Amino acid sequence: MTVTERFLNYITYDTQSDASAPRSQIPSTSKQKDLGKALVKEMQSIGIQDAFMTETGYVYGHIPASPGCESAPCLALLSHMDTATDMSGANVKARIIKHYDGSDIRLSGPDIPDPSAIYTTVEQFPLLKNYTGQDLIVTDGTTLLGADNKAGIAEILTLAEFLMKCMDFPHPPISICFTPDEEIGRSADHIDLDILHASYGYTVDGGAVGDIQYENFNAASAFVTIHGITAHTGYAKGILKNSALIAVEFQTMLPCKETPAFTEGREGFYHLNSISGSSEKTTLEYLIRDHSMELFQAKKQTLLSIAESLNQKYGAGTVDVQISDTYYNMIEKIMPYPELISLAEQAIIQTGVQPVSEPIRGGTDGCRLSYMGLPCPNLCTGGQLGHGRHELISVQSMETVVEILKNLVKLFAEKA
Ligand SMILES: [Zn+2]
Repeated sequence: MTVTERFLNYITYDTQSDASAPRSQIPSTSKQKDLGKALVKEMQSIGIQDAFMTETGYVYGHIPASPGCESAPCLALLSHMDTATDMSGANVKARIIKHYDGSDIRLSGPDIPDPSAIYTTVEQFPLLKNYTGQDLIVTDGTTLLGADNKAGIAEILTLAEFLMKCMDFPHPPISICFTPDEEIGRSADHIDLDILHASYGYTVDGGAVGDIQYENFNAASAFVTIHGITAHTGYAKGILKNSALIAVEFQTMLPCKETPAFTEGREGFYHLNSISGSSEKTTLEYLIRDHSMELFQAKKQTLLSIAESLNQKYGAGTVDVQISDTYYNMIEKIMPYPELISLAEQAIIQTGVQPVSEPIRGGTDGCRLSYMGLPCPNLCTGGQLGHGRHELISVQSMETVVEILKNLVKLFAEKA
């Protein structure tokens, strides 16, 4: 089966996860296991005999090393089965535009632009131009496509089929894992590293061909509670402590340009995610992000210092700040294994593509896994514009990623 045939099959499964499901419900939606079951069957049919799915919807399988590479460290390849919660992934009606000509794409609706027509335009998405001449897979505009991350699954299993057929092709032992619930941030929670049994790995969950990501934010949440004292407004002089006003003061003491709307690249930020309250009590919730551990710690300290100075002004206990770290930059855990980056870059270059490493302005499964003891950068899938109706991927991108994966396992075998 080709990588495209696989992909078009997987996206017929609705595997949307559900952030509102109780944490005890694993996976968050049982329909994810329908795809899981199909993947196990497929893995067994290509000769991965130990393929199985756990009760919790995690699919595992192992490919033995090529002769002579048995003692090489086991390499894990991971993808997630669920699709984003931003838009439905049910009844995806994908269409392949052969030899895409680089113009605006009408996903659905009347031919003449009118309010009911849905277009992916070059003006809005200049990256379309990169796909001129390729065969582009798009949606009908009513759902997402699901390339995030079913393209990753299709690419990994196309590699797997190749390796099972050509056991002599040099490769280390390979461990495959397909997870549910990545889009709701729960997939790393229940990965069984003993079953995975790998020394390091890659999530195949990135974007444009050539991407290799190994830096993400350090992240924390801060809950700020401001306790006021209420009084009759007519007789409040010297008594009233308006918590809502102190909340405004708190916010204005933060650097005003260090917000998501003013930052990019490796610039961190404070994001006021919510604010609610009255004169009696006001709560603010912040997300704190920075790639640099030093600046990350400094940002947290800034919040504490502001609280301290406001407490001096308005009385002890007026402002309370609770900070909890959410995740850390995986680079700290990747650095001890520089070959994870250098071999990936080499594998990409061997396919004739220039490697690109942009710091992720968020977190990934790989960053959680890296801190759980499985160093795990993120490799490209070729998918673009995920989480929405404009999501697309080209046939050629998926084919190139399969080649990158082949080169990569070969490089790992040669290194061993
Ligand atoms: Zn993804």
